[in-house]
Order: sequence, then C-alpha cells, then structure tokens
Amino acid sequence: MLGLECAGERADMRAVVLDGDLRFVRDYPAPEVPPGWARVRVQMAGICGTDMELIKGYKEFKGVLGHEFVGVVDQCENAEWVDKRVVGEINAGCGHCEWCKKGMGRHCPERRVLGILDLDGCMADYCMLPIPNLQEVPSDLPDVRAVFTEPLSAACEVLEQVVLRG
Ligand SMILES: [Zn+2]
Ligand SMILES: [Zn+2]
Repeated sequence: MLGLECAGERADMRAVVLDGDLRFVRDYPAPEVPPGWARVRVQMAGICGTDMELIKGYKEFKGVLGHEFVGVVDQCENAEWVDKRVVGEINAGCGHCEWCKKGMGRHCPERRVLGILDLDGCMADYCMLPIPNLQEVPSDLPDVRAVFTEPLSAACEVLEQVVLRG
C-alpha cells in the first residue's frame, strides 16, 4: 500500500468507488475518524457475491466497496489499538437506540454497514469502524486467512439464527 499524499489539508487515498459506475481512483478523501471510531490501514481485502450484487444496483449503495478486510489501526483515540492488526464487525450501530443499548447493534435500524450501507468500505488504503467492532488478529494468523473472518462469521451467524432439527 502506498502512503497518503497530503495535498494541503486533505489527504487522498486510492479506492474502488461505486457511484453508478465502478471506478478505481487515486484521489478519494481519506476518512476522518469520529470520536469512538478507529481508522484502519487496509492490508488485504476480499471480494464476494454481495459486492457483485451491489455493482448491479442492490441497496443502491454509493461509495467505496468492500467489507472483508484485514488491516492495521493507524488512528484511534484509544492508543492501545494503534498498530494492532485487526479485522472488524461490519455493522456500525448508532450507539444509543434500544437495540444498541442491548448490545445488538447489528439490528440497529440506523446502522451503517461497511461497504454495503451508508459507510465507505475497505477496498481502499483506509477504512474506519467503531472501536468496539475491532477484533485483534493473533500474530500467527496470516493475512490471507484473517481476511476470511467476515465471510466465516456470516456463515456462523446463520447457525445462531436458524434452529436445525432432524
Ligand atoms: Zn461478503
Ligand atoms: Zn442503534
């Protein structure tokens, strides 16, 4: 990954952008981290069937694609996270509704979803997520395996939501 090039106040980054058209650009504004969030320098990102559906118009998503990643935290108000290699829960709840208060931000009606709903994704030099969404990756797990955490967890979620009989 290339470093950020600062042009005045704004830092640009490379990104795969969907806005009716699918484009690779080098001048997408790098995310500015709100309080309680972390910025991640993406090391590796995956492509899946959901991305192909978004390109066809699913959810009318506009922004940076990508929701499967492994990367290193480069900005975070909590210094303990900086330089940690992480993967992340892709649903970002509002943090203050009934669902979020019960710790069920994945069902928050106001949630944003990395690279899927109202939140720029990880096919870029940088992406961002709320700090509680981060999961540190054990040092012995290589990027090529860690990048599959999101699709694996999505598959495991099905087993939590569906009761199998017989
Ligand atoms: Zn996916
Ligand atoms: Zn909420």
